[in-house]
Amino acid sequence: MGMQTYEQFDRTFPTDEACKAYIVSKRWPDGVRCPRCKRKEKVYALKQPFKWTCCNADCGKRAGYRFSVTTHTIFEDTKVSLRIWFKIGYLMITAKKGLSSLQVRRVIFGEESGTDWRTAWYICHRWRAAMKGDVMPLTGEIEVDETFIGGKERNKHASQRKHIGTGGAGKVAVIGAIARKGMIVAKVIEKTDTATLDSFVRQTVSKDAKLIATDEHVGYRLLGNSLPHRVVRHGAGEYVVGTTHTNTIEGFWSLFKRGLIGSYHKVNKQYLPLYVNEFAWRFNNRKNPNAFADLITTCSN
Ligand SMILES: [Zn+2]
Repeated sequence: MGMQTYEQFDRTFPTDEACKAYIVSKRWPDGVRCPRCKRKEKVYALKQPFKWTCCNADCGKRAGYRFSVTTHTIFEDTKVSLRIWFKIGYLMITAKKGLSSLQVRRVIFGEESGTDWRTAWYICHRWRAAMKGDVMPLTGEIEVDETFIGGKERNKHASQRKHIGTGGAGKVAVIGAIARKGMIVAKVIEKTDTATLDSFVRQTVSKDAKLIATDEHVGYRLLGNSLPHRVVRHGAGEYVVGTTHTNTIEGFWSLFKRGLIGSYHKVNKQYLPLYVNEFAWRFNNRKNPNAFADLITTCSN
């Protein structure tokens, strides 16, 4: 991975001004654009650095529409130094097993002792929300699988965990499709019925896919009508049949679950989609040397 080390990264952004200049370069590579009307014309720099006014008549009033480098970004209205934001973002995209409390503590308390716990938690969630990416449709050999997060299921053996239907109290189902040696698409689902599983696969996978491997969950039974679907019967002790297996996505689930357990804050059901974003995004950008730059571009759209 061509990413910088933490020390190199830290030196690249010695001040908040350096962070702001970087956001400008990624957000507006061809010139500052008004975040409201999206035009470059009649946008003028104000005396204060990193602030502009848009003087298009249909955008601002007489004084113009004033905006800053952080307007309409995840950093909007923050009182925390952008250096802290950047460092946490960097740690998040490089921490393969997820962000640990120790890492966050070091950043927060090493820099500004006034930054409290809730602020750190908020910053992490804003980054997670920015970690969206369109990677569909998946092609080649694909594995699809669902898993349950939370409740007591964590302690059960994988084979017992299957076929629970909608899952029990406190459990949340997550479905994922992964192209071998490629990208993953994962999301939280309300039900694990046929309608949900079938439509997820059809929205995620290209019609030209070579193989779609799943376990024997009944929710996948209609895929074979129009897709090259093959089943590995975990209930019968089958795990690999030729190229038919779900080992790749199961590897992702175990990474995800270990990351959640190690997370510095208890994971609530309502925030689970954000953690799914984080782990899928990091996986999909594992070989991207411009991961941080791309994230800055995304988080200011
Ligand atoms: Zn405007």
